[in-house]
Amino acid sequence: MNNYVYIFHPWHNLGLYRMTLAEYAERIEEVKRDKPLDEQDLRLHYLGMAFILPDQAQAEWDKAWAEWDKAWAEWVKAQAEWDKARAEWDKARAELVKAQAELDKAWHKKLCHPNCGWTPENKDIFAGGKSLAVLATQKEKP
Ligand SMILES: [Zn+2]
Repeated sequence: MNNYVYIFHPWHNLGLYRMTLAEYAERIEEVKRDKPLDEQDLRLHYLGMAFILPDQAQAEWDKAWAEWDKAWAEWVKAQAEWDKARAEWDKARAELVKAQAELDKAWHKKLCHPNCGWTPENKDIFAGGKSLAVLATQKEKP
């Protein structure tokens, strides 16, 4: 006989969960000791539905768990690779943004309306006025 019990919802946000008999006993005491009275009926109901798997089913569970664990390890590895790629992407993006700002700074003044209020620091075409007529009344910027 194995030493595990299976329980749906031993914590409010969990589905099926496996714990040792000692953990199970402690969880019941924890609910009685720490949880609000208006939650205890439902929590203890679910805890009371705990069951022990027959040995064959336990072996199948262990096998499925090992497969899950392997898949989890693969996911962790992929996550690390993704994080590394994301960091490289962030770095490249920062370089692109910097190059765009330098391009804007170098060429905007030469090519745009002489009184355009837009700047790389204040990206607002209305900063100098909301119409060509208003821009035309402004003194040309040096
Ligand atoms: Zn402009």
